[in-house]
Amino acid sequence: MNVTVCNPLLRTPLSLIVDDSCPVINLTYYWIHQRHAWKARHQPGVSPERWEGNASQLKKIPPTIPADFAYEWAEWCWENGVKGKFSLIPYPAGVGRVDEGFSNFPVHEYQAWLRIYREIIWPNFDLTPEMLTHTAVVDLDTFTLTEEWEQVEWVDPPVDNKLTDYIITAMEMLDNVGILCEGVTSPGAFGKRQEAAYAKAVLTASQEVTNNPRPFYFLWLKHDELPDVPIWYAEKEKGIAIASIVSCAGDWFGGWTGYDLGNADRFITEDLQGGRLPPILEKELPCVLVGHWPGFYFNGEKSGFDVLKTVKARLNSYDPDGTKTLWMKNSEIGHYWMAREFTEIVVIEERMESLPVTGKREIKLSTQFPTANFTLAIDESIRHVQVNEWDLRQVHSRRDFQRDTFLCEGKQTFIAFDLEVGDTVLELIL
Ligand SMILES: [Zn+2]
Repeated sequence: MNVTVCNPLLRTPLSLIVDDSCPVINLTYYWIHQRHAWKARHQPGVSPERWEGNASQLKKIPPTIPADFAYEWAEWCWENGVKGKFSLIPYPAGVGRVDEGFSNFPVHEYQAWLRIYREIIWPNFDLTPEMLTHTAVVDLDTFTLTEEWEQVEWVDPPVDNKLTDYIITAMEMLDNVGILCEGVTSPGAFGKRQEAAYAKAVLTASQEVTNNPRPFYFLWLKHDELPDVPIWYAEKEKGIAIASIVSCAGDWFGGWTGYDLGNADRFITEDLQGGRLPPILEKELPCVLVGHWPGFYFNGEKSGFDVLKTVKARLNSYDPDGTKTLWMKNSEIGHYWMAREFTEIVVIEERMESLPVTGKREIKLSTQFPTANFTLAIDESIRHVQVNEWDLRQVHSRRDFQRDTFLCEGKQTFIAFDLEVGDTVLELIL
């Protein structure tokens, strides 16, 4: 009897990553100002490059993004079932600390932002720091900004305790406002040249600050290869590992700048045939989309948000009855891939002599990596399934296939349940 682990509920994971979000302020406004000031100090007379932002656009970029927009955006995501990861830069551009407030801005905006983060965004999105400022590196001894940049010099960060302490500080600032982060986001290419040390530092920081042995980090956006979910530093017996969540599509909403409008067609065209997503959906690999918060806001025009609405409508057309795709948080994808890779599956066959055609099978799973909606395919037609002596309900369509059910299709049976730490026994009657 063959047993394989499938995608959760036989659906391809979809996830939306939102970077550069922070309470109260518009990161892009400060990022461009600070970068251009740095440029004037260090490379006088050298014009900023394209990636450093366009000074002539600055006058239409507002310094803040209102909580009202965050509310509208988050409520729409909730109502439309969109899940993923949303950044909370803890000390954005060094302007204010999330755990102290933003003294030059109205207190009610800060309070409203925190409420929206906690109550409307967090249920459907992992909240992660995107390092400390997303602009200059902070000197942790004095808490002042240095001349190094998180996403420039620290693409190749120090690989000693300094890196771990930096990530611990970012996580603690979220912890101080009651938000336990499930992982971190790299500002730009932060850590890219030292990925092994970076992954280790995130894992150590996460175990220390949030007591989470299975975090994730987001660093890679890859347009030229099929996505995967690489797992680092797995300790199978202890249930410890860290996942790298790789995005395959973006940044085609409104850019990181909020003035470079993207296009839904680059994700998926109206006829559902073109764009980056269809070939990945076809292969049933995780589709992680990435966008930037100032791009959704688009200087108040909300044009990037409109692109998101169009992409979501097309993904709904691609999967009208919800049987092909499943929106998930980044952490849920990480946990699923860990369980998929590090769960032992043993089949114990036992035929009943009086009933030569039918039989009883037992499958024993053992894991230290729990996950929701763990889904197995078995190449037998099965009439009855128990998981740890609990009867699962048989369903007759993929639409009804949910956790704690099983579905027979021809000679195959699919079984879905939440996988818990330790041993799980499946009793099957053919
Ligand atoms: Zn960023």
